[in-house]
Amino acid sequence: MVPHDGRAVRRACVATALLAMLGACAPWGRGAGVIALAGPWAFQAGDNLAWAAPEFDSSAWPRLQVPMSWGRQGFHHVTGFAWYRVRVAGPWAADEILGVQLGKVESAYEVFIGGRALGGVGRLPPDPQANYDKHTVFTVGPDLREPDGSFMLALRVWREPGSAPGAAGPVEGPFFAGPLVRIVEQGSRGETGLLALLFVFLVAAVYHLGLRVMRPGTADYGWFGLLAIEAALYCFFRTQWKYELFDDFILMKKFEHFLLYATVPTFVQFIWVFFREPFSKWLRATQAILLIGCAVVIVSPGIALARRMLPFLYVMLAVLILALLRLIYRRIRAGDREARAVGLAAVLVALAFSNDALVERNLYVGPRYGVYGFGVLVLGMSLTLAYRFQRALGDVELLRQELETRVEDRTRELSAAYRRMEELALRDGLTGLLNRRALTDQAMAGLARAKRKQHPFALAMVDIDHFKSVNDTYGHAAGDQVLSQLAARLTAAVRASDNVGRWGGEEFLVLLPESDREQALVAAERLRTLIEAAPMRVEGDIQVKVTVSIGVGLSRDPHASAIVLDTIIRTADDALYQAKAAGRNRVVVAAT
Ligand code: GH3
Ligand code: MG
Ligand code: MG
Repeated sequence: MVPHDGRAVRRACVATALLAMLGACAPWGRGAGVIALAGPWAFQAGDNLAWAAPEFDSSAWPRLQVPMSWGRQGFHHVTGFAWYRVRVAGPWAADEILGVQLGKVESAYEVFIGGRALGGVGRLPPDPQANYDKHTVFTVGPDLREPDGSFMLALRVWREPGSAPGAAGPVEGPFFAGPLVRIVEQGSRGETGLLALLFVFLVAAVYHLGLRVMRPGTADYGWFGLLAIEAALYCFFRTQWKYELFDDFILMKKFEHFLLYATVPTFVQFIWVFFREPFSKWLRATQAILLIGCAVVIVSPGIALARRMLPFLYVMLAVLILALLRLIYRRIRAGDREARAVGLAAVLVALAFSNDALVERNLYVGPRYGVYGFGVLVLGMSLTLAYRFQRALGDVELLRQELETRVEDRTRELSAAYRRMEELALRDGLTGLLNRRALTDQAMAGLARAKRKQHPFALAMVDIDHFKSVNDTYGHAAGDQVLSQLAARLTAAVRASDNVGRWGGEEFLVLLPESDREQALVAAERLRTLIEAAPMRVEGDIQVKVTVSIGVGLSRDPHASAIVLDTIIRTADDALYQAKAAGRNRVVVAAT
């Protein structure tokens, strides 16, 4: 689920946008033969079961618009019972089974068709129970219709005393009649848009909560995920599917109100975290009050209190919207491009919910747009968060590249410094040969290897003859040049360059691994003649004839494990002394 770059996020956004569009494009149209029942119905306050009869003459009753609260049509004083009657005629065959779909009727009702009671929603007195959000389809058999094919539809409505003027009678939702199959189809099709949105909200929720869990420092993603879950739930409660889950009106209404109270503080939390704005004390207080509202809605018996609290919620919402607009205005002026997108979405949500509040109060009858406002917000936010995420990833990538080059530079510098340090520590400054310490290490390793393989081991101590007089004759600088030229010749002569080093002033040590007495003698002799063969050139053109004396030391017995380097070197020194004593410019191999 964690995308490797912003592209994945963008694709997810495009996909959800397409889904939402698909949902929005779901067929809204009416099925064949379906007619709208919206229009003027006869209305009469009071209660008389005789008013259900098809033949009853209600032509003198006032006409009221359906759907629309009677409280908004001049009868706000009427509580308790009232009746509606309408004659329904359509292009239907005489034997066709018809359906009547009724929307929200406050506070409870019974329906009569052809004079017969077909049921209703909620309970009427003497033991009344309000239930007004459930859309219901009633089946109209051919026996309930008149000879001309029409039928009389009568509603016996009960309005809870004390309810708002916008809550009286048929107020909102679908009011249709037609072939039963078409009506049922339409009932399920009418909610595809909501269900598509529900799906979009769930996808957004899972996605952003997933990001929150997998990436630290993404609190805004978390709050947004929570907001999307709340939007999904709110969407679900706007559908009739909720009654498939719990056929308990009060419980459903409690959930709905709870969500209304919970969503607002979540929204505030998300926006303020998103813009990294500090929470003022009063903002925190507002959030707390709304959360207390959540608890009150759940704990208080019934929904009367929750409904009475709604106006306060609207006021708080209005204040919060103003605060939000101020925040966004400030951000836009500060050149924050995200603020423009969020601002637009927030304004749309505010407009959508303002519309819904008007519908809820039944000040006009029309569709509710709240969930669609949420849809725009969720998609807009998804995009904004995706871009922010992508930008963050871009920054991280830049930082990574910068770091990489910096590490590369440092590594280069370090290894150069290390090489220089190694030179200083292991090499002799004048000749570039291994120094005494490094040479000792090499010799020890070579000796250990020889012992392990039970091979012979030899070394040659090389000392320049009468070097003091070279210095005395040509000067110290010339002496130095002789030393480095000699070093170069030795290096070229031995098999591996690291096997020769400067032991002291004008003494060199040459390691001869794997050489027995004979081989060591041959090698040493070769070195000696090589030096003797040609004079060194110093100070331009001065030729200095130089000879060396060489003492060869051997590991006497390759099988003897106790042999130590010091002993071999000492024997080589002894041999060298003998070579000097014997007249110089010669090789002496230590006696075994
Ligand atoms: P022998 O044949 O007995 O070895 O005689 P020698 O003169 O070579 O030996 P001695 O030990 O008396 O003198 C060594 C000289 O090497 C003395 C010192 O000034 C010289 N020497 C040692 N290190 C350096 C160096 O780095 N540069 C130069 N120019 N001379 C050095
Ligand atoms: Mg010497
Ligand atoms: Mg010497």
